[in-house]
Amino acid sequence: MAYWQPYTTLRPYNTFGIDVQAQALAQVTAVEQIPRLVATAAGPLRVLGGGSNILLCTDIDAWVLHNRIPGITAEPLPNGNTLVAAGGGVVWHELVQWTLGAGLAGLENLSLIPGTVGAAPIQNIGAYGVELQDVFSHLEAIDLASGKMHVFRREDCAFGYRDSIFKREFRDRLLITRVYFQLHSSLFEVNTAYGAIAQQLNDWGITHPQARDVSRAVVYIRSTKLPDPAKVGNAGSFFKNPTIPNEQWLALRERFPQLPAYPTDSPERVKVPAGWLIEQAGWKGIRRGNAGVYPLQALVLVNYGGATGDEIWHLAQEVMASVNQAFGITLEPEVNIWGGKGKKI
Ligand code: FAD
Ligand code: NAP
Repeated sequence: MAYWQPYTTLRPYNTFGIDVQAQALAQVTAVEQIPRLVATAAGPLRVLGGGSNILLCTDIDAWVLHNRIPGITAEPLPNGNTLVAAGGGVVWHELVQWTLGAGLAGLENLSLIPGTVGAAPIQNIGAYGVELQDVFSHLEAIDLASGKMHVFRREDCAFGYRDSIFKREFRDRLLITRVYFQLHSSLFEVNTAYGAIAQQLNDWGITHPQARDVSRAVVYIRSTKLPDPAKVGNAGSFFKNPTIPNEQWLALRERFPQLPAYPTDSPERVKVPAGWLIEQAGWKGIRRGNAGVYPLQALVLVNYGGATGDEIWHLAQEVMASVNQAFGITLEPEVNIWGGKGKKI
């Protein structure tokens, strides 16, 4: 039976390793537990998965549902693909490994992203040229106010770059209980075009890569570039890569000829790497007390141990102001901020 534990520290539940308390926390391991937990909460509700995309600034005036709903199943579809369903509390990388073990392709480029399956649609997780929406079928979510179950198909989710309807209209209103993916047999052509994947496979002498090989390459590359949250607190990329009008990029290129840019869905805008901007503004490796900008990837803010959420948020604001001054570009946090000055809870 699931129950509320009052005044629980959230330190074990966020990858920044910030030590704040929630009003109460409950471990949700089955959908049937949710209505009673919701009915007995005496304040605002929040949902937490792996806590890998969250910055906790102060004690949280909320009742936190920790999603641990398990289970993975697969069924063949008439079109030859496979429909895989995973509980919202399943660890994302465990799902990726499960699908690869079952001979299914589609999730390999998204290997080693921390967090849970239920959180993956929230920001339409993406890496190495693939986004969740590329293999997403539908999801089930419970409305925390009405207790009703809803199904969201791909076209209902308004997926965008690190964005979806769940970050906007439905923010903090739902608990995603199960996500369904349409995956291919592993003979499906893999995507090795992005970044160092092709080079890594080449180094290993793999000329005809399968999905498993791509996953192994992604795991290897990520492990060399990104801080392991078990060792150094972080939430991955702290900021989104901004998109700017083509004219602004051309004007900036006059002053910064090396400024990279990548296409977006709009022919009028380009995406510029926030990590490059932060590094050029001189922040890579800078430390403010126990908070810092990761020396190997300037897009990642880290907690070297004992930093408060407000300290990290203060550093983030300094970085944002500095990038704005240098390039006239406003960075937007990708990480969800809970608590702290001016925040909702
Ligand atoms: P949490 O941090 O627990 O929650 C994030 C938000 O989603 C919160 O607002 C929460 O309320 C809400 N939420 C969580 N679960 C549910 C649910 N079941 N129903 C409704 N709302 C929910 N992200 C990428 O996109 N690509 C990457 O390559 C990537 N790499 C990363 C690398 C590192 C080292 C780290 C630390 C993070 C990285 N991230 C990346 C960010 C993060 O892993 C993803 O955003 C992930 O999907 C967050 O999952 P979570 O379960 O930890 O979510
Ligand atoms: P990288 O390969 O060094 O590239 C730097 C940035 O340039 C990336 O953010 C990426 O944007 C963009 N980019 C590079 N090549 C691109 C291409 N061919 N087409 C379009 N955009 C391109 O990045 P990295 O830091 O090592 O990360 C590798 C991948 O893992 C990226 O996809 C990144 O998003 C993902 N990642 C995400 C997080 C997170 O918390 N969100 C953390 C770590 C890594 P995109 O980010 O849009 O791909």
